[in-house]
Amino acid sequence: MEAVLVENLVKKYGNFVAVNGISFRVEEGRIYGLIGPNGAGKSTTLRIIATLLKPTSGRVSVFGYDVVGEADKVRRIISYLPEEAGAYKHLTGYEYLELMAKIYAGDGYREYVERGVELAGLGGRIYSKIGEYSKGMLRRLLLARALMTLPKLAILDEPTSGMDVVYATEIRRMIKRINQEGVTILLSSHNMLEVEYLCDEIGIISNGRLIAEGSPQELKERYGGENLEEVFTNLVRSV
Ligand code: ADP
Ligand code: MG
Repeated sequence: MEAVLVENLVKKYGNFVAVNGISFRVEEGRIYGLIGPNGAGKSTTLRIIATLLKPTSGRVSVFGYDVVGEADKVRRIISYLPEEAGAYKHLTGYEYLELMAKIYAGDGYREYVERGVELAGLGGRIYSKIGEYSKGMLRRLLLARALMTLPKLAILDEPTSGMDVVYATEIRRMIKRINQEGVTILLSSHNMLEVEYLCDEIGIISNGRLIAEGSPQELKERYGGENLEEVFTNLVRSV
């Protein structure tokens, strides 16, 4: 079964067409990257899959559940990391993970907190107030929150945006590791270089359309280029 099925998805904001007939599928167990420049329609697409925004037309399902008609069922099996996410600044990282785990799992929350603390990798700083965290530390905490419950599908909008190289590398390692535990990952990035070694499959999105799809290797062979940034440049030149 496919984890995500998107068919002819259209999203308009007023008269502006942000997503213009996108179709793709994500197989269970994969890491799929939606990549493209700012304004391409990545966040809009991910928010629709996460049931937070209604499509104008088209069909989207997650593990067979329709994101509009069965939104409650979808929400139970996904987690979503928004592009611009904050957290309660007066809580410590630990308290935040504990709160989120309790909301999710009631009495059985301890296992999630343990995994979250370990994933966040903040050492003793997990007991500091979130208000004192750097941007990179906050992003790791939020990503740990999204992954600690081992959802069937994790939807991660720009998981490494604004990270320095060391943090970005560790976040990629975290994503790979949790994928190996069976979590299907759908992520977005405007940084075409950094997703090349992370994703099994990539959809390149530009102006609300999916203009190419394949494994990083396939895309480089098909469109020419040493890396995905060159693939994108070649693609845009050719259309
Ligand atoms: P990306 O995540 O690829 O940068 P977005 O999905 O955020 O792209 O945005 C796609 C387009 O839709 C952009 O031109 C953006 O300005 C526009 N857009 C996004 N959200 C809204 C909104 N709430 N109202 C109007 N336009 C929006
Ligand atoms: Mg975005």
